[in-house]
Amino acid sequence: MITFYPGPSKIYPQVAAWAAEACTSGIVSMNHRSPEFMAVTEGAMRGVRDKLNVPEGYHLAFVSSATECWEIVAQSLTAQTSLHPYSGAFGKKWMDYAHRIKPPQQPDEADVLCVVQNETSNGTQVRMPALGTFRQEFPDALIAVDAVSSMAGIAFDWTLADVWFASVQKCFGLPAGLAVLIYSPRALARAEAIGENNHYNSLLFLHENFSKFQTPYTPNGLGIYLLDRVMQTVPPIAETDAHIRQRAADWYQFFEEAMAGSPFRLLIDEPERRSDTVIAVTGSEADIKAVKGAAKAAGFMLGNGYGDWKTTTFRIANFPAITDDDVARLQAWLRGWG
Ligand SMILES: *Cc1c(COP(=O)(O)O)cnc(C)c1O
Repeated sequence: MITFYPGPSKIYPQVAAWAAEACTSGIVSMNHRSPEFMAVTEGAMRGVRDKLNVPEGYHLAFVSSATECWEIVAQSLTAQTSLHPYSGAFGKKWMDYAHRIKPPQQPDEADVLCVVQNETSNGTQVRMPALGTFRQEFPDALIAVDAVSSMAGIAFDWTLADVWFASVQKCFGLPAGLAVLIYSPRALARAEAIGENNHYNSLLFLHENFSKFQTPYTPNGLGIYLLDRVMQTVPPIAETDAHIRQRAADWYQFFEEAMAGSPFRLLIDEPERRSDTVIAVTGSEADIKAVKGAAKAAGFMLGNGYGDWKTTTFRIANFPAITDDDVARLQAWLRGWG
């Protein structure tokens, strides 16, 4: 079965051997404050920085999930409330979680702007120039970016936001249970000004621990080990970015041309809104159900629709661990419906 599910998603084939190594070498049984394990954490942090081109001065922490990052932003970085210009289910969910912690009062009191860079639910993205516009329009606000289904897939201009986060079960090609949280000096200054220290995952507490390559609690050691290995293996982000964007363009052209006579069409009409890493395709409920079932029988797992688009779309992940050969096979099979 080749999975095109946009999370959890296809993992790199080397992960099985790396996981076995982590167990046989005993690293997963090491104390997380031991020098051996701290070296793994340091390596993973360096790997993320180097391969993803994270600017000097931006800080890094590992937590458990992107959902946890939503709460960290609300708890530790939001003084009053946050503003959520969203376009899909994940953006809405983030707003709901954040506003339970920091309820909205008046919208002009918002001091954090929360943006989902790649909306996995409907295959849309906020491109870097749009983030730049937010920066200009909200010069005093922190900008926090959920990049769960695009980080490690496409390149970012990190300086356009203060907080970026992603869990590893999407473009990092790893099993779930770990998330990468990246924050700017400005975000750290904000956390210090707010001084929130009430939680095990308060940003200041995380920061203090990660500056020593440690964690406040026993971390997902296997996940950190695997992240270290995957970061050693992947090419620099510029290379991955070029590959992923080209393949996204191929997918969009495929649906516009080869599949023009099929019961399916792209969910998003405007090319500039379309995601590079998640392709959303729409059709009638019956056709969507039929193609997903037939695909599964043929050895392809298509992503279900999500939220409002649950029954009227399928989604195709365009993540780095998916090979060009996987894509060619799925396209050859889909042509039968075209
Ligand atoms: C998958 C996803 C999440 C949730 O990630 P968790 O690791 O389950 O918390 C959040 N935002 C986006 C855009 C996602 O695609």
